[in-house]
Amino acid sequence: MNSSNNDFSITFQIEGLDIRGRLVRLGPALEQILRPHQYPAPVAEIMAETVTLAATLASALKYDGVFGLQTQGDGPVGLMVADVTSAGALRGYARYDEEQIKSLLKSPGDVFAAPVPRLLGGGHMAFSVDQGEHMERYQGISELDGATLTDCAHHYFRNSEQLESAIWLAADAGEDGTNKNAFSGALMIQRMPSIKPNIDEEEAEDGWRRAVAILSSLRRKELLSDELAPEELLFRLYHEDGVRVFETRKLFHQCRCSREKVKSTIKSFPLEEITDDDGNVHVTCEFCKKLYNFNGDELKKLFSGA
Ligand SMILES: [Zn+2]
Repeated sequence: MNSSNNDFSITFQIEGLDIRGRLVRLGPALEQILRPHQYPAPVAEIMAETVTLAATLASALKYDGVFGLQTQGDGPVGLMVADVTSAGALRGYARYDEEQIKSLLKSPGDVFAAPVPRLLGGGHMAFSVDQGEHMERYQGISELDGATLTDCAHHYFRNSEQLESAIWLAADAGEDGTNKNAFSGALMIQRMPSIKPNIDEEEAEDGWRRAVAILSSLRRKELLSDELAPEELLFRLYHEDGVRVFETRKLFHQCRCSREKVKSTIKSFPLEEITDDDGNVHVTCEFCKKLYNFNGDELKKLFSGA
């Protein structure tokens, strides 16, 4: 595996057209996010797509803090959460019903053809940007409408006041159980407000349509090939108009949980509800599965405020 071709977001411009794009590819970071959870294959795949979608949408935003994406639905995968900091730290987890997934897997073809209705069911996708206490928390919300997450993203683009946007998203969750060699890719293009005077509207519309058509011609194999350097992939697609790469940003897996944060969460519960028979408290981080243990002495201190 060529690791230099993974775990980044690239900003590019299609020359001659007022189109800005982002290419995201995840490899080792994705594997690290998925592995501790040992998700069943279809859950791992849709989770991989969700993390990749979050990274892609975040890469197109100017923010200083945490971008979050959440899906909630009435299907077997009730909740998925993925977030990415402005420094590029990614994490995520899914909550799912094991029995329901097992029975779905009797016809796996259906699941992979229409993962959103089969796995997530009816529900919504929400986006947030948390820039700290004194900043506004931006939130967008969109119905889960479509067979795939790519469809749902397009539904969101159409119904929000966003720039006109198109995206292509694919993920391979790697080996079953270990998620070894997990790999994902996303390509998103956005139509920028024109800065040129006297632009020919029709020409601009044609240019946008052409760029979207080229995007949809992209094959899953191309998007998920780490043999192909990102610049090569972009050149292959948009060489006729010309493509210029601006910026490459590293993405990586990192959880933001800490003993201090877990302590403040514990304090919000009545102690007797969370202790085990020996008077200890065990908390597992939902994102990274790290286990935090607190013994009776520590808890006494914590709850007495000392
Ligand atoms: Zn954690």
